[in-house]
Amino acid sequence: MLALDGVQRVFEDGHQIYALRETCLSVAAGDFVTVTGASGSGKSTLLNILGLLDTPTSGSYRVFGNETTQMDERLRGSVRGQMFGFVFQAFHLLPGRTALENVELGMIYRPVERKTRRSLALAALDRMGLASRARSDPRTLSGGERQRVAIARAIAGGPSVLFCDEPTGSLDSANTNMVLEVLEEIHREGLTIVVVTHDPVVARRGLRRLKVHDGRVSELIPDGNS
Ligand code: ADP
Ligand code: MG
Repeated sequence: MLALDGVQRVFEDGHQIYALRETCLSVAAGDFVTVTGASGSGKSTLLNILGLLDTPTSGSYRVFGNETTQMDERLRGSVRGQMFGFVFQAFHLLPGRTALENVELGMIYRPVERKTRRSLALAALDRMGLASRARSDPRTLSGGERQRVAIARAIAGGPSVLFCDEPTGSLDSANTNMVLEVLEEIHREGLTIVVVTHDPVVARRGLRRLKVHDGRVSELIPDGNS
């Protein structure tokens, strides 16, 4: 479904920073991939490229067989909006809007009618166990609840892949566990998920585990002793 081939990402900051070096990686439909590595190793760079939030300096990135590196920003944005959902560490929910409105806002770039948007948003919140908080301002919710609203927003429109960058980075261990259970459940229901995390506890929950070290991505071979 997603295929990186010889991808590099080099940043210029007075000198060259090789955030991602010669990377080949495929993600198949139904994968649940975790990516771990130290701070600054290149995890977010990898996720941003996979999610079409960033473009490789060189190499090929195909999504469902379509080369994306030659696409203009409008097309990339449309592929991203149709196919991908995102969850970040800091939730990025709008205060002063209800949880329901926040989830609906996640679908404004999708070709769905307003009424359908509302029912999809309600269904997504319900799936996250938050139907009763639909009218709440995110500021009144706990961190774990906020992240579940953010997940509802990311999945409500029915993306093909959910990308999460440090989704539990602002949560305590009980809420971390709850968010992981939610991700595992939506994975069982068929969603492809890529989670980037510096937390080894979270990384161990992946069915496929990758490690990034100094811009190099390697796959950890499952050994059954996780
Ligand atoms: P991680 O998510 O693993 O902490 P990142 O992917 O954010 O790491 O960063 C990898 C490397 O690329 C780091 O050295 C970081 O400083 C650098 N980097 C990331 N984004 C930029 C940018 N926009 N400009 C310059 N350097 C960047
Ligand atoms: Mg990061």
